[in-house]
Amino acid sequence: MGLFKKKVVPLKPYKKIDIQKEIKRAEREDESLWIKCSSCQELLYRKEVERNLNVCPKCSYHFPISVETRIALTLDKSFTELYTRIEPVDFLKFKDTKTYKARLIETKEATNRSDAVVCGKGSIDGIDVLFAIFDFTFMGGSLGSVVGEKITRLLEEGAEKNLPVIVFCASGGARMQEGIMSLMQMSKVAGAIFKLKSAGVPYLTVLTDPTLGGVSASIAMLGDIIIAEPKAMIGFAGPRVIKETIKEKLPPGFQRAEYLLEHGMVDLIVSRKEMKRKLHTLLSLIVA
Ligand SMILES: [Zn+2]
Repeated sequence: MGLFKKKVVPLKPYKKIDIQKEIKRAEREDESLWIKCSSCQELLYRKEVERNLNVCPKCSYHFPISVETRIALTLDKSFTELYTRIEPVDFLKFKDTKTYKARLIETKEATNRSDAVVCGKGSIDGIDVLFAIFDFTFMGGSLGSVVGEKITRLLEEGAEKNLPVIVFCASGGARMQEGIMSLMQMSKVAGAIFKLKSAGVPYLTVLTDPTLGGVSASIAMLGDIIIAEPKAMIGFAGPRVIKETIKEKLPPGFQRAEYLLEHGMVDLIVSRKEMKRKLHTLLSLIVA
C-alpha cells in the first residue's frame, strides 16, 4: 500500500530572523510586529506565528488562515477553482447601517472574492477530491444563497463523478441580509449531502475557528467524518448568548473543539501540520 512507502520529509530548520529588517518591513506595510493569541492571551511575535503555520507556539491555538494558504497546505499543486461566475444579488433591498448592495461592493473590493466560499477540484497526495473553503474575511463567512448554491453544486458533482467532498468551515452563520433565502440554504445543502451519501461517496468536514450558527447546524455537522482544528470554537449560538440566556456559568472549554470531541460531537482533532497527511490516510481507507 502506497501509504506505508511514503518518505517522511524532515522539517527545515528555521532561518534566523533579522529584527531590524522586520521592523522596517512592518513600518512599511503598516503591520504590527506583535499579535495577541485569542486563546492564551499571550503576546506573540507575528513572524514566529506565521512560520509556525499560524499556530500559537504557546498553546497551539490555530489562527485563521487565508484560503490560498489553506489550499497550499492541503492540496497538491493541482487546484482548479469551480463556479466562479455565481454572484450575490440584493433581492430584498436590505439595509442596516448601510445597504447590502454597498456592503457587497465594499467586501468584494477588500477581499477580491465574489462571495464567502471558494470551491474547486484538486488532489491530496494523488487522491482526487472536490474541495470547498470558507473565507471568514468575506462577511464573516456567512451562508448566503451563493455559498449554498456553490456547495450544493459541488456535492452534486461529487455524487455524479464519485469524488469525495471536503469542506473547510469558518463561519459566523447565516447571512441576515438575505433573510429566509439564507436559511433555506441549510436544507438545500442537507438535501445535496443526502444525495452524495446515497451514492456512497464520502463527505468530510473540517471545522476551523469559528464554526457557528447555520453552518455548524448543516454543512459542518453532517460530515461522515467531522474533523476539527485544535481549540476551534464550534457551536450554534456563541457562549456569551448562551450564558446570558440560561444565566448559569458555562463549563471550562465550552464550545471548543476538545470539549466537543470529549462529548462525541466531532470525530478527530487534527493539527494543521498533520492535516494533509491525515486526510490522505482517511481517504485512502474509505475511497472505493
Ligand atoms: Zn496561545
